[in-house]
Amino acid sequence: MVLFGRKKPFSKVLSNLICPRDQNQLTDFQCSKCGTKYGEVRGIFRFLPEIRDEGKTQEQKRYDMLGRARRLDDVEPHGGFYQRKILLNETRVSAVIQGARIDNDQLILDVGCGSGFPTLSLMKKKEVYVVGLDISVGALEFFQEKALKEKMRKRILLFQADAENMPFAADLFDRVVSFSSIEHVPNPDVFIEECVRVCRRGGYVSVCTPNRTADPLRQLKPVFLKFASVISQKPRPIIEVQGLPLSPYHKEFTDKELNFLFEKSGLEDVSTSFLIYLPTGVPHPLGTFMSLPPIAYFESFVGKFPFVRRFSSLLVVSGRKC
Ligand SMILES: [Zn+2]
Repeated sequence: MVLFGRKKPFSKVLSNLICPRDQNQLTDFQCSKCGTKYGEVRGIFRFLPEIRDEGKTQEQKRYDMLGRARRLDDVEPHGGFYQRKILLNETRVSAVIQGARIDNDQLILDVGCGSGFPTLSLMKKKEVYVVGLDISVGALEFFQEKALKEKMRKRILLFQADAENMPFAADLFDRVVSFSSIEHVPNPDVFIEECVRVCRRGGYVSVCTPNRTADPLRQLKPVFLKFASVISQKPRPIIEVQGLPLSPYHKEFTDKELNFLFEKSGLEDVSTSFLIYLPTGVPHPLGTFMSLPPIAYFESFVGKFPFVRRFSSLLVVSGRKC
């Protein structure tokens, strides 16, 4: 395998790969214990030679479909949906940068990077090197395409692998981040333990996920969408994918539950940010109005009140590996 032309932090990653079957260190992408040869197909390193878990196969299919659906790029750029989603994305990325103390030149692992929507936004804010890991090749291919278009391909390295059994040696990354993925895995505790294992000592792990405490409010979503479609010009759902199977593992956490998981995995100085209070699936013109700077300021302001912040849409929990 040729490492020439790859950015330096990435050659360190490629020489510290392990076999997901037996955790044996790989030499030239081959495992000397079980004989499995891993490799790169069209720019993506493949580490899922087999998946025995039916639920995981279903999740992989689901995200392949989502990857192909082109997500946000399908939505006209001036629609309110788009602007509210951009606001949500920018807000969560800034909270992760702050929580995980992300800075230029760091080597970051993004677990469950999907089609790279938050990852690319992070890379525009900080000059970092990102290793993206996802179960779905469909989503990773889309990520790669977008990174090429935005001239950021050289700063990413993509792996199709299992988040609960990552092909990386311990203590490899400066920071490990994850956006909206922990709610989709079978074993969230194993997911966090893996994030901690591959993070270096003194590095940070930061996870963004929906806040379960706000769930009763989300039940009002259909009512709100109905109202919004009456006063809006173009009501249009953000993701239109025919026949998309339901996520087999979907579950949400409260801030207390997530803090508990972090501390149980040995992370220290665990901190939580509470983000976004108003609905995000809002069509134009209401969504456009709700994306204006004063509304964004209002949302960050109300989050200062302990009673209100329990009902934020999103949580960002961060902790340091000691
Ligand atoms: Zn092996």
